Amino acid sequence: MKKVIFISLLLLTACAPLPDPAQGLPGTSGPQSTVGLPPAYTPTPVPPPTHTPQPTPEIQLSAQNPGLLADHVGDLAHLKGATRYSIEVEVTFDSEMRTAVLDGWAQIQFKNHLDNPLHEIYLMLWPNDPQYQSAMVAGPVFIGDKVIDPRQELNGLALRVDLALPLAPGETIDLGLPFRIEVETMRPSAPRRFGITEGVLIAPTFYPLIPRIIDDEWDIRRAPPGGDTTNSEIALYQLQVTAPASFDLVASGVEILNETLGDLQRLTYVTGPMRDVAIAVADFVDVSRQVGDVTVTAWVLQDHADDLDKVLDSATLQMQVLGDLVGPYPYPELDIVDAPHAFGGIEYPGLVFVGTLGTHWVVEPTVHEVAHQWFYGLVGNDQISEPWLDEAAATYAEALYYEHALGSGRATGFLSDLRAIVREHPDPTVPIGLPVGDYASDADYAVFVYLKGALFFDALRGELGDRTFDKFLKAYYEQYQYSFASGSDFQEVAEETCRCDLQDIFDLWVYEGGVISEFEK
Ligand SMILES: [Zn+2]
Repeated sequence: MKKVIFISLLLLTACAPLPDPAQGLPGTSGPQSTVGLPPAYTPTPVPPPTHTPQPTPEIQLSAQNPGLLADHVGDLAHLKGATRYSIEVEVTFDSEMRTAVLDGWAQIQFKNHLDNPLHEIYLMLWPNDPQYQSAMVAGPVFIGDKVIDPRQELNGLALRVDLALPLAPGETIDLGLPFRIEVETMRPSAPRRFGITEGVLIAPTFYPLIPRIIDDEWDIRRAPPGGDTTNSEIALYQLQVTAPASFDLVASGVEILNETLGDLQRLTYVTGPMRDVAIAVADFVDVSRQVGDVTVTAWVLQDHADDLDKVLDSATLQMQVLGDLVGPYPYPELDIVDAPHAFGGIEYPGLVFVGTLGTHWVVEPTVHEVAHQWFYGLVGNDQISEPWLDEAAATYAEALYYEHALGSGRATGFLSDLRAIVREHPDPTVPIGLPVGDYASDADYAVFVYLKGALFFDALRGELGDRTFDKFLKAYYEQYQYSFASGSDFQEVAEETCRCDLQDIFDLWVYEGGVISEFEK
């Protein structure tokens, strides 16, 4: 029974890989899964892209207005220097929909915000990461009348573009490049972030993504298996996606143009400020509901149509709960997409995948992924170094959902279940604030970052009191919306709000670890 509870709870800790049931309970010996992928995955060679360079389209700030609700269009004024992407992609399937090719062109306007000139620009090709297991090539890079052959690094995960002339501080550069991704069907036993699953193409981060610059260095770290992968600044996207007209097409952002070209459809979207985007293509059943001005749409396979109400009831209530407790969701739309076997779920701005429809575990992954719109999407954090900031928050948001949907007794029961699992770990003193790769196993990562992390949020609420905790959540969101927060930023906002010193509780739970009475056996 415990195993069932543990696995169920890990399932609800969506956007972590599903545990291998053979792996057993945390702390038991046995092989440790690394998301079930071969240890040295190498992308297969892909034919070069066929796209030809096109004139640079003007990427206008005002063209992004439809990507935001009217009350939030003014946010764009503060984001004039954000990277702007104009991405065209055509999706082609083989006749049995077992494989697909994404052929595209990315036009990117990037501004140097450093005090130093930049001599190179990096682009991440995340589909080449082992968690995506697709094969992506991109290039050459066109900058004005110059053509640059970028250099592949990290086994194709990163492309280095050496600039003929350095990009001075404050200067903007326009670069364009073709890209091509070959996609396969994923096996249920080997979940992926990218691929075709039960007839659904899920394609997040399908374009060359500009990584962050941290302390004047490009952040091109590989992601350890088990955690989330991308770290990127808020940007402004225009997407033009061409796909067979017989399928439904879902994308982050808001559709602004819908064209039919014979048996193809071409849809154009703008996103407003988002740090990443995703698309999905399949034959879905879809139903929409309004939460204030926001349209929430669930896109599910016919076999999972019975779950539509459950998904929409829980997602819309969670939107209300977090809108009230944390701050307003600024976009007109949120899509929730059925993606069987894609872990418990995976979050992207404006579009979340839920991997558990058709099972008993639908509500928790749904409300968890919805919560990531606030914690990861709008308030960014380093997903590799400080994953607790979004994962602990999204897991605690499951308790907040229960508190508002079913009362505080259900939320207390949920947290008690988490506590029991942490207590059973041979060493519950491990802190929640480690990087993904520093935990001993995927199971430990889930137990400490998600479960103990959610209990840290509850302990912090106990320390601050409900009213101050509410104020803190709002202040944190207001201060770091569209930006990145670190653990020390989070602590600083909490201390400013309570006008108290929280170093001891942060050391005990987050940074150093130690004996906490609620986990003593
Ligand atoms: Zn998560």
